[in-house]
This record gives sequence, C-alpha cells and structure tokens, in this order.
Amino acid sequence: MMMKAGFFEKAHHIEIKNVAIPEPGPGEVRIALKKVGVCGSDLSIYAGKRKMNQATIIGHEGFGLIDSLGSGVTNRHLGERVAVEPNIPCGTCRFCNEGRGNICPDKRVIGVLEDGCFAEYICLPEAFCWSIPDEITDLQATVIEPLAVGFHALKKSSIAPGQTIAVIGLGAIGMLLTHLALQLGYKVIVTEPNAGKTEVAVAMGARSTSGSAEELNFIWEKEEVVGVFECAGSENSATLACHAAPRGSVIVLLGISEIPANFIPLKITREGITIIPSIIYDHPHDFEQVIDLLVNGVIDPTPFITSIYTLDDLQTALDQGLKGNDIKIVVEIT
Ligand SMILES: [Zn+2]
Ligand SMILES: [Zn+2]
Repeated sequence: MMMKAGFFEKAHHIEIKNVAIPEPGPGEVRIALKKVGVCGSDLSIYAGKRKMNQATIIGHEGFGLIDSLGSGVTNRHLGERVAVEPNIPCGTCRFCNEGRGNICPDKRVIGVLEDGCFAEYICLPEAFCWSIPDEITDLQATVIEPLAVGFHALKKSSIAPGQTIAVIGLGAIGMLLTHLALQLGYKVIVTEPNAGKTEVAVAMGARSTSGSAEELNFIWEKEEVVGVFECAGSENSATLACHAAPRGSVIVLLGISEIPANFIPLKITREGITIIPSIIYDHPHDFEQVIDLLVNGVIDPTPFITSIYTLDDLQTALDQGLKGNDIKIVVEIT
C-alpha cells in the first residue's frame, strides 16, 4: 500500500512521491491526515535556511483521523479526530526529568528531523495525538500547535491578564499570540511593517506602534508595557526588543534566528530587564489548555487561515507563504 507525500528535496524544491504507508508500532496510532498547517519553520526549510540531512517529508501542524492502532493501544478508536503534537521528548534525560521536555536534546521533531505531516499518513505515539472534541472544527484543530506556542510564551512570561504587552512581528505566531492575549484580557500593542497584518490586529482590539527602538521605548514606557514578545524571528527584531524594552519588563524570545543579535548590558542590568526563552510548549499541559480554550469558545483561529491548497500544490503553497502576506496557510491532504 502506497501513499502520497511531499518531500523537501532541496531549497525551493518539493517533490510529491509515492512511498509505503507506515505501520503503527507498539503504543502508536496511524493518522490519515486531512489538513496540515504551513509553519514558519516549514518556510525556513523550504527557503534553504535550515540544514537538512536528507530528503524529508516536512510539515508538523497535522490534523486527521485515526485509521490504525498499534499493539497495546486500547483507549483510542478508528475514525477518532486527532491533532498532532509534533515534538516528542525522550522522557528519560535530566531535562525531561525536570519537566523541561521542550529543551530535551534528544526530542523527536516531526517534519524536521524525521518525516512529517505533508503526507497521507503518519504514525505517532498515542499520547502525542490529541483527541479533538466535536466543538472544535477541523480547521481550528489544524492551528492548535502554533496556538500552543503562543500560549506557552504567555505562560512563561508570568504576566497577569489586565497588563499591557508588546508584540513584535505579526507572522502566524505573533498574530495568534495577539489573539490569545486579547481574548484572555491582556492589552496588546503590536509593531509590524505589513499594513494588512497590522489592520487585522487593530481590528481585533490591539493598538499599533512603529518607530525606532528609542521611539518604541518611549511609547512603551508611557503605556506601562510589562512584556515584549519577539515573534518576528530575525536578529534585527531580537535586537530591537532588547533596545526598546521598558524598565522592569520581560523580553520573551520566540523567534529562532541563528544570527547573533545584540543588547546593551548596562540597560538590561540597570533597568532590571529579564530575557526569557520560549520554545515550543510543555507536554501535555499547553495542548490541553489550548483545546479547552477552543472548546469554550474563548479563542477562534479560523479567521487567520488565509489560503488553502492541496497536497499536490504544496510547492505553490510554500512559494505563497514566502511572499509573507498570508497569516496561516493550510494544505488539504484529501
Ligand atoms: Zn508550527
Ligand atoms: Zn529528554
């Protein structure tokens, strides 16, 4: 039995190939994938910015139906709607033992270090396939993974609702973080060069500011911004965050640029600024809580899905993503 899968071969080149359908191992389920979100990291890989060891099926924001159970899996059923949690910590290293599986050096990273979701089927440990209640639509379920990234960052900041945060960059993560924060009762100020994306955030209730680091620092001090979330992912925006952060604030770094950024040690120390890293999410709590927020209707990412493509058109979808005008692109598998 064969399936269609979209392989990243080399920069700007996807090949749709026929490969064997994987069989679920012990403790695993097989998912017939239905919809898969395009992530900024898929775009980085596609653009050749991230070194890959071999041709790999990319994609990790998967939603589908369980279609086969591995041995030992007893509490799941065929046809069950599930969302993929694509980072699988080893569970035994010292970081995993401290509950910090998100920085596990041996974690499995679906769609990057091993084959991912731009395919008709994938097998995963059952604990990383989240059962989706009926209240959540297929499209909403496709966006749970990036929502969990934003949710994790808010949680790590320890900032209470009611306070004001600044979000740098309105890619999917920045936009979803803005939506989450507004719905949870934070005040949000965004800074983003794309006028269309800025308009979307302003329509949701965010305020927009722009200017140099000095100007932003002045405005953010005045507005009592207590947290600056760097979501643009470039070294320049990380540097901007460090120069513009107001006295006493926290900077939450979500962007994953590999290029050095800079800060002024005197400013950071004298003004008591804390730099907090935020990578992916905690298993299992962040997915669990995002699912609750969706079930209760607190958040709805549907309006952020701006384009839908088929798996055959994966390369076109990624080209479209690189143009930078979409918020979230979804690829339909069947
Ligand atoms: Zn993602
Ligand atoms: Zn580990």
